[in-house]
Amino acid sequence: MEVVIKGQPPEERVYGLQCSACMTEFKFKESEGRYQAGDYKEGPMVIIACPICHRDCYAYPGKTSSMTPSERTKAYYEK
Ligand SMILES: [Zn+2]
Repeated sequence: MEVVIKGQPPEERVYGLQCSACMTEFKFKESEGRYQAGDYKEGPMVIIACPICHRDCYAYPGKTSSMTPSERTKAYYEK
């Protein structure tokens, strides 16, 4: 087999988030979070606990895969 264009394994994808509870900004790999298929409207999401306040934050792969500050998505959190 020959690789024509090298992709990136999903678990290696890096997400950037800002915790909406404590405003901490952090990056993480998909393999560090919990991947969930989600509903059809929002699509799949990755759930990860904020490293500072430990609330669950949600990252949406389609919206956060390109890691530039302007495209950083605000995380939602649960109580
Ligand atoms: Zn937080």
